[in-house]
Amino acid sequence: MRAGILGFLHESNTFLDVPTIFEDFERTSMTSGTALIERWTGAHHELGGFLAGGIEAVPGFATFAVPSGTLTADTFEAIAARLIDAARAMEVDGFLVALHGATVAENYPDADGEILRRLRAAVTGPIVVTLDLHANVSEKMVKHATAIVGYRTNPHLDQRERGIEAAHLLRRIVDGAVRPMQALLTPPLAVPIAVQKTSELFLFDDLAHVLTWPGVLSASVFLGFYYADVAEMGTSFYVVADGDAALADRAARYLADRCWARRHELVPKLPAPEEAVAHAIASEKKPVALMDVGDNVGGGSSARSRVLFDECVRQGARSVMVILHEPELVQSCVRAGVRSEVDLGFARGIVKTIGDGRFTETKVRHGGWTHGDQGVSALVETAEDHTIVLTSHRMAPMSLEQVISLGVHPERKQILIVKGTIAPQAAYAPVAGEIVLVDTPGPTANDPRSFAYKHRRVPMFPMEAECEF
Ligand SMILES: [Zn+2]
Repeated sequence: MRAGILGFLHESNTFLDVPTIFEDFERTSMTSGTALIERWTGAHHELGGFLAGGIEAVPGFATFAVPSGTLTADTFEAIAARLIDAARAMEVDGFLVALHGATVAENYPDADGEILRRLRAAVTGPIVVTLDLHANVSEKMVKHATAIVGYRTNPHLDQRERGIEAAHLLRRIVDGAVRPMQALLTPPLAVPIAVQKTSELFLFDDLAHVLTWPGVLSASVFLGFYYADVAEMGTSFYVVADGDAALADRAARYLADRCWARRHELVPKLPAPEEAVAHAIASEKKPVALMDVGDNVGGGSSARSRVLFDECVRQGARSVMVILHEPELVQSCVRAGVRSEVDLGFARGIVKTIGDGRFTETKVRHGGWTHGDQGVSALVETAEDHTIVLTSHRMAPMSLEQVISLGVHPERKQILIVKGTIAPQAAYAPVAGEIVLVDTPGPTANDPRSFAYKHRRVPMFPMEAECEF
């Protein structure tokens, strides 16, 4: 069976002022043809899973960019044109499409739904789609997909497996062995990111149960992305069953009802920076990883907030590590040179290392990529033994190689400030004595009640306490 391979992944935070442009995708990853195969073979990503899924892979077009703001209309149209043109040119039995599910364009708030609509109109044959666990799934996506497979872990460590699952499902559909019937339920619910660790979340026990039901081909719990102010924002429950629409409906209803009944358990209370830093200084389980929830790079934030670092300095903490996206400060360090003293404005220190910012990750980490490029980077050490890593590109902290490649030993620090919530824990849990999620401000703040929405459904829980499903 010949399967066309396509990918377009972006998590769009609509609360950011800076739009996402075509160059952001070009710079991060954009491949077609044999370059796509070379780029993704072996990767712990669904695109790597497609290629390992026992099908004859026909490479089309795939791109992704680091989470950031809404895509400009031109960007969406340029990428959509490349993807659809590539699909049209293929002679295949079906398609495997890696989408994020929370991509927002100026002209299409449901960008993923629009891509699938255009693809469906352009080609024949089944379309099996993979989506991130943070997808805001719409009826439009379901309508134009033949079947959908979502990640089941956060941190996302099963991306490759889900790609393989999608490939196997496509093969069975093409062979006529199964007849997929889909069901989607979208209760009015936003689940705060602080409780989205799937290994500790009852929703994923329920999901594991449903996956054992005879006739269920695949099932997914999508926790949604509430940093996107769109009509389909929210949690959703999706099931695809073999030839039995009622079974798919029943399974989705089972998942949604059990979640809704326990929704009050999904509203966490996190410590404020002052409390969290005091706790970290006193803790005997060093290093303590302080998760900067409000400056979550994987959710689109800037990686420039110093709320936690400044609080550490204020309370006299020692040996703190922080990674900041500060291209201009990197240039100051480059000009000053290794072993020179530099004044960063918020700290003084010695430039210890300057690196090219490229690194390789060999372990399975959230995001599934293997090659990182954070741009030219500088490591500054202060008299208080603080380690300040400054990068030229904005990068989510999914790999410790980000700092190890510059000569840092994170396990020797007292406090690690980590710009994320759940996803970076795959990298940081092995070295951290303790992980503390902190209620910091920013465009990825934990509490959905702190955002001024214009386009979401009303009412929704927990933004409106009184709400029905
Ligand atoms: Zn995600």
